[in-house]
Amino acid sequence: MSRGPFTVGERVLLLDTKRRRHLVVLQAGGAFHSHAGIVAHDDLIGAPEGTRVRTTMGARLTAVRPTLAEYVLEMPRGAQVIYPKDLGAILVHADVFPGARVLESGVGSGALTMTLLRALGPDGHVLGYEIRDDFAGRARRNVEAFLGPDVPLTVEVRDVYEGIEATDLDRILLDLPEPWRVVPHAAGALTRGGILCAYLPTILQVATLRAAIAESEFGMAQTFEVLHRTWHVEGQSVRPDHRMVAHTGFLTVARLLTPEAARPDASDASDAPDAPEDTDVTDDPGS
Ligand code: SAH
Repeated sequence: MSRGPFTVGERVLLLDTKRRRHLVVLQAGGAFHSHAGIVAHDDLIGAPEGTRVRTTMGARLTAVRPTLAEYVLEMPRGAQVIYPKDLGAILVHADVFPGARVLESGVGSGALTMTLLRALGPDGHVLGYEIRDDFAGRARRNVEAFLGPDVPLTVEVRDVYEGIEATDLDRILLDLPEPWRVVPHAAGALTRGGILCAYLPTILQVATLRAAIAESEFGMAQTFEVLHRTWHVEGQSVRPDHRMVAHTGFLTVARLLTPEAARPDASDASDAPDAPEDTDVTDDPGS
């Protein structure tokens, strides 16, 4: 990631006083046109990040490099992207670690892909299965525009419902309509202890997925959603914003266990009694 003064070819986010955002790629002699006037790219090239420029009509614009969260909301999209609030939760709850081997399907616009690549570092690898050739190309362009061309990413145009060829994967991340159709072959592609994570917009899809997980060698399943409410903070007027993104999707994570461990509890009837409920690590830490 770059730092220091803006240089030719970089992407810059311009924010106006109403917080509208515009993403521009700096070119020598280029110009940014908006209803509030024009800014010459040459006024930005060589300027420090965070600088303020004025348009020909006197409007003020602040210039910064886009963060990953800002970029995914501004980049060209083919498919709907996973929102930043969910991207962060996926990294932690799917426990994406530097060097991990990850399968992602579908790849869509590449928002999750670039988030993963940043977390995995140069020793990790993302294998993307995307059914649509045009989305695969769009995702690759979006990723490279943000992270550069040297990323450990392979995108294959194929249907993940038909099977997974890779083996010994650490994580499988799914953002597509019927992830339950992936569960049987995900069990063969992941290493034991590996994590499956699926993002789904509706709760009936979650119920179908959880039923498939219950029948599989996956266990320790959890489903949750992330609520992110921004606040208006201006002098003494401090309150939640009136509008929020109230719903995006539900996240479900599960771990690949040994076949014995994944069997329903009924078959362990002769074993020692289960641990008391309050040792459940998913419990509210306050309880
Ligand atoms: N997570 C992505 C968005 C994915 S949108 C992002 O953050 O940008 C869902 C994608 O899944 C679409 O691109 C769609 O083409 C793809 N898809 C749907 N069914 C699929 C299948 N069976 N195999 C592979 N990709 C599939």
